[in-house]
Amino acid sequence: MDYIKILQEIKSEIEPLLCKGKVADYIPALAEVNPDRFAMSIQLLDGRIFEIGQCDWRFSIQSISKIFAFTLVLKLLHQDLCPRMGHEPSGNPFNSLVQLEYEKGIPRNPFINAGAIVVTDILTSHYKEETFEVIMRFIQELSDDSSVSFDAQVANSEEENGFRNLALVNMMKSFGNINNSIFEIMRTYFHQCSISMSSKQLCRAMLFLANHGKDPLCGKEFITESQSKRISSLMLTCGHYDASGDFAFRVGLPGKSGVGGGIVAIIPNLMSLCVYSPRLNENGNSLAGTKALELFTTKTGFSIF
Ligand code: GLU
Repeated sequence: MDYIKILQEIKSEIEPLLCKGKVADYIPALAEVNPDRFAMSIQLLDGRIFEIGQCDWRFSIQSISKIFAFTLVLKLLHQDLCPRMGHEPSGNPFNSLVQLEYEKGIPRNPFINAGAIVVTDILTSHYKEETFEVIMRFIQELSDDSSVSFDAQVANSEEENGFRNLALVNMMKSFGNINNSIFEIMRTYFHQCSISMSSKQLCRAMLFLANHGKDPLCGKEFITESQSKRISSLMLTCGHYDASGDFAFRVGLPGKSGVGGGIVAIIPNLMSLCVYSPRLNENGNSLAGTKALELFTTKTGFSIF
């Protein structure tokens, strides 16, 4: 398969979309990014990388970090799902309060904000004040790159403006679903969202999931096959907030987006993918990025179906 040719075709077909959509601005530091950047990388299980655009440009991974924190929790607990949350799509925006109230502080899944905050709480109970360092080191290990770091300006900006996230954590605390200090958990959560990575680094970090939990290049088994199956299933059903069904319908792959404009996806047994374009659609997912992945699965005929 001529991947470079396919990526070039995709780039030219999505060109008219690159000026559509809107950069996330509810976190002021995110509004400052250059909205016109584009990058798309794929990495095969044998390590070969094919890419187009600004693939070394590091952007804010935001909710993509939820995959890594959730993986860490399953690994820690030796379980297939964390207690204290569900595994259903929310059908609601990523930061919705209404559903959480109805459902008595139990988040629908680990990939909406409330679920990710409970994940951080579970990690905090175990790793205490080192929780963020543990998450950071885990992502560095997965991406085989110790230079992966976070953006303090984004973390501070979110800490100063994360009113909805504070409302979510307080609501869950009122229902008894948060055990640690709200301040401590939210600091870690905001820092985790502010981690910056390139599309190339994200592809590398996702390769273990494309290979059932085991890194195909270094051979390390990060999680069990069963845990890997559960994470991928949740990505398919819950990876794109209230547009998860639409993404699955169009792209046909487990994926996860972040409001920074990145989307990661995997094709089991074959490759990991990452696309970056910061202008978002109305559901908070990269507009051109979603289209690029749809074109990729259409052109190659690869999907999980
Ligand atoms: N840090 C963001 C928030 O909690 C993450 C949202 C996202 O990427 O979906 O608001």
